[in-house]
Amino acid sequence: MKAALKTAEGTFEINEVDIPKIPHPDWVLARVRVAGICGTDLRHWKKEEPELEHKIMGHELSGEVVEAGENVLNLKPGDRVVIETLLGDETCDWCNVQQYNLCPHLYPVRMETVYRAFATYVIAPAKKFYKLPDHVTHEEAALLDTFSVGLHAQNLSGLSINDKVAVIGAGCIGLGQLQLAKASGADVVVIDVVDSGLEAAKELGADLVINSDKEDIQQKIMEFTGYRGVDIAFECAGGSSMPQTLKQATTITRRGGKVVIVGGFDPGDTAIPLPWQQIQMSEIQLIPSASYSYRDIYPEMGICLELLSRGKLNAKRMVTHSFPIDRINEAFETAQDKENTHAIFVALTI
Ligand SMILES: [Zn+2]
Repeated sequence: MKAALKTAEGTFEINEVDIPKIPHPDWVLARVRVAGICGTDLRHWKKEEPELEHKIMGHELSGEVVEAGENVLNLKPGDRVVIETLLGDETCDWCNVQQYNLCPHLYPVRMETVYRAFATYVIAPAKKFYKLPDHVTHEEAALLDTFSVGLHAQNLSGLSINDKVAVIGAGCIGLGQLQLAKASGADVVVIDVVDSGLEAAKELGADLVINSDKEDIQQKIMEFTGYRGVDIAFECAGGSSMPQTLKQATTITRRGGKVVIVGGFDPGDTAIPLPWQQIQMSEIQLIPSASYSYRDIYPEMGICLELLSRGKLNAKRMVTHSFPIDRINEAFETAQDKENTHAIFVALTI
């Protein structure tokens, strides 16, 4: 099968590799249709990482069932599906209570199995598959991973109706966070430095948008919140902007409010300065959020699929570009250069 493999320089080359085989009777082989490029993928773009060389990446995907193991009763060839790529070792204390996002072996396990969307076929346990209603497209479904990340963060935050919420970062994660908060009855301000992202935020229901390069963020937030600061700030920008955006999140949050860390850190980010005295004296809670798993008895991806199916989340507006897998390097360049390309969600068709 065709697969995009990581090169020594951190780009991709298309190569032929073996089709994965179903390892257990409760696993399923799927044909990938659409894979997304997410911020996590971009943080590895053009970085020399020997441990990733010749590896297949990609963890936001939709596709079709090709072959189901003999114990699988709920899936059959041809079923259109979204596949959750969070798979732990299934033996630890966290996996035992469906907190597999915290599994100590999450990355080694998923990288060898389901974290391989940039290829023609992928395998996963049947329980990681969710069937798509006919009206949900493969492109829209590929955004469910992103929405699930936001839902997990929102669930950790305790967000409630009428909360004043700031979302920092108007990329895929931030725009998902915005929509979830709006669907839950919050008033939401979205902050970014890229106008095209803020434009999308407005269309997706933001009550206020702020370009923090051009506008007085403190003044605008104070006016928005009755001079208290937001109840909850979601840091959704991540990566190299963390030293600015995480600090920004703490300075716009009200006393007794919460800062939820959704965006990803770069490896080795061990010394980001924050206004610790202010954080302590204001009892601002810092809440780190990692991927997603379950809320009570419900898988967070399943919840997001229902919300998307019923029109409570808009994925269409977030899909700005689509490339065939053969042009994956161009797709990554496009996703990286969002100030010029206005990219939000860049889809790869496979
Ligand atoms: Zn585990």
